[in-house]
Amino acid sequence: MPVVRVALPIPLPQLFDYLAEDASAADIGHCVRVPFGHGEKSGLILALPERTELDPARLKPVAYIQRDVPALPPDWIELVEFTACYYHAPLGEVIALALPPGLRRAKAPAKRRKAKTRAPDDAPPPAAALPTLTAGQAAALATCCAAEGFAAWLLAGVTGSGKTEVYLRLAANALAAGKQVLMLVPEIALTPQLEARVHDRFPAAHIVSLHSALAPGARARGFVQALTGEADIVLGTRLAVFAPLPRPGLFLIDEEHDASYKQQEGIRYSARDLAIWRAHQHGVAVVLGSATPALESWRHAQDGRYRLLTLPARARAAALPTVKTVDTRRCRLDEGFGPQLLAALAAHLERGEQSLVFLNRRGYAPVLSCPACGWVSQCPHCSANRVVHLADRRLRCHHCGAEAPIPRACPVCGNQDIHPYGYGTQRIEAKLKTLFPSARILRLDRDAARTRARWESLLATIAAGEADILVGTQMMAKGHDFPLLTLVGVLGADASLHAADFRAPERLFQQLMQVGGRAGRAELPGEVLIQTEYPEHPLYRCLTRHDFAAFAALELDARHAAAFPPFSFQAMLKADAPQLADAVDFLRQARQLAAKYAHATSAVRVFDPVPMRLTRLARRERAQLLLEADRRAALQDFLSRWLEEVRALRPPRELRWQVDVDPLEV
Ligand code: ADP
Ligand code: ZN
Ligand code: ZN
Repeated sequence: MPVVRVALPIPLPQLFDYLAEDASAADIGHCVRVPFGHGEKSGLILALPERTELDPARLKPVAYIQRDVPALPPDWIELVEFTACYYHAPLGEVIALALPPGLRRAKAPAKRRKAKTRAPDDAPPPAAALPTLTAGQAAALATCCAAEGFAAWLLAGVTGSGKTEVYLRLAANALAAGKQVLMLVPEIALTPQLEARVHDRFPAAHIVSLHSALAPGARARGFVQALTGEADIVLGTRLAVFAPLPRPGLFLIDEEHDASYKQQEGIRYSARDLAIWRAHQHGVAVVLGSATPALESWRHAQDGRYRLLTLPARARAAALPTVKTVDTRRCRLDEGFGPQLLAALAAHLERGEQSLVFLNRRGYAPVLSCPACGWVSQCPHCSANRVVHLADRRLRCHHCGAEAPIPRACPVCGNQDIHPYGYGTQRIEAKLKTLFPSARILRLDRDAARTRARWESLLATIAAGEADILVGTQMMAKGHDFPLLTLVGVLGADASLHAADFRAPERLFQQLMQVGGRAGRAELPGEVLIQTEYPEHPLYRCLTRHDFAAFAALELDARHAAAFPPFSFQAMLKADAPQLADAVDFLRQARQLAAKYAHATSAVRVFDPVPMRLTRLARRERAQLLLEADRRAALQDFLSRWLEEVRALRPPRELRWQVDVDPLEV
């Protein structure tokens, strides 16, 4: 009787064999339900082995092979196999991650969707007139279109340079050639404008959105439409990189520097890097776009692995906004605002233009404290303070969510005179309301935009010109195009200047350039004011000159000197447990195992286990062990062998550990 080999979502690297009476090679790539332990599990058939190492008499039969959904093709199985191999994750778990949860319940569409294939007498929906390309856009397109086969393009275009127009033209070419397009965006909900633009441009195309906020049924349906080739464009977030595409023609990655492309829990894959791998697998182009490329990508463009396309000027606006630093050591701040920023806000308000005050910290104040005894509103579960939320009078931990009412008096000494310290968006909003009582002030952060509908209505209010001053977090830094927005004021940026993470300056520069890039995108000129105590800091100097290349060169020099990525390759073993000693002890044992590979360890540096910066999170103590190598292959080779032994360790039951390849936070 035929045997099928199945990948199951369990934390073990092996595959499992089952009997399947009527199975044939055509079943490879089908979902299957099998008995496992005392219950059943769903998995994927990967092979029909000639022989099985187990006694066939002891094999159990499969419960059900789901043949009404088309099989996942071999190139898709290669993709998940590569992911499992590169990120050192069990294949069955990668498959469970890559397949939408509702897929097993999904039915293949009975009929092609008729609405999308136009009847002859049915006039095509009028497509909007295409804008005349800017010189930069035309040149980038010409270069890109002249190439054939695999190429990774880095489209480095200043904010407002019209990168989206380049994506859309390239997508049009691919569609015209009968191919599918995969377009990845950081967070669909943040930029409904982009989704609308894609739909407007290709009214006759079948466009599928894939993101985690979709209901399981919709996500499974979109996935199947990609798989059957019915979908022409798949537009999605990180997880959409696993959409099967029978005729892929183009991969697009918007805002390729965005950290949300890297999954930060479970299997820590990078959707950007996997998309590049897929483009290579299929011999097609991949375009990575950003105004502030990741330094890894920028370096690849310098050394010729990626090909650089630049858009040096804005498409609509005459110029980039003027960016100035305001030295706050020389002025008195009124609740965080210096006189220069206040004057600018008043002037833009007077002219009927919109302003944005950017502060990447939500809540009213980051901490509540008692000046008499020194009590602070620490989270009982994390090594972090709970944030004051005045709107609903709660203290809330932004890491674990623990909350409590704001106490009337110090819980330790009873002092009634306790104070919020520092500023969050709610406090800035309150201050602006007293300063500009006639202005329409709108706060945009995760508290104000709890649902997608609420967020979209906030964005619509701005687009309609029904708000004068916006107060926003990094949600406001991404992709938005508001023609009336002409002033961006930045508060509290210095806090990131001295962070310990070596990527902190890169992130700060990206964030400020992106948020500043929201100013003056149309006819009205834009202005950016950054309040800082370090106006001479090279990061700010590069920023005021819009000089990403100079900043990148400085940072890359520093990274080179310290042998940090992209000049080395890193992986991290992380452990967490109720007791810090257990986590550290486990990592120490793992480190000792590494010593065995003397020949490999000369190519791989294994550091000492250390507590993570946010050591305690949701009652668990966390530690990490960093590995570093000069060559990716050396690191990969080492990880394969070492992790096999780490898996054989027997840590305390409550301990959990994970491996993070190419970690973004170290
Ligand atoms: P980016 O993504 O590079 O920041 P966008 O794609 O949002 O920039 O484009 C910025 C603005 O310029 C948008 O309003 C867009 O419609 C407009 N735009 C883009 N290309 C052109 C063009 N060739 N002619 C006129 N307007 C354009
Ligand atoms: Zn006190
Ligand atoms: Zn907490």
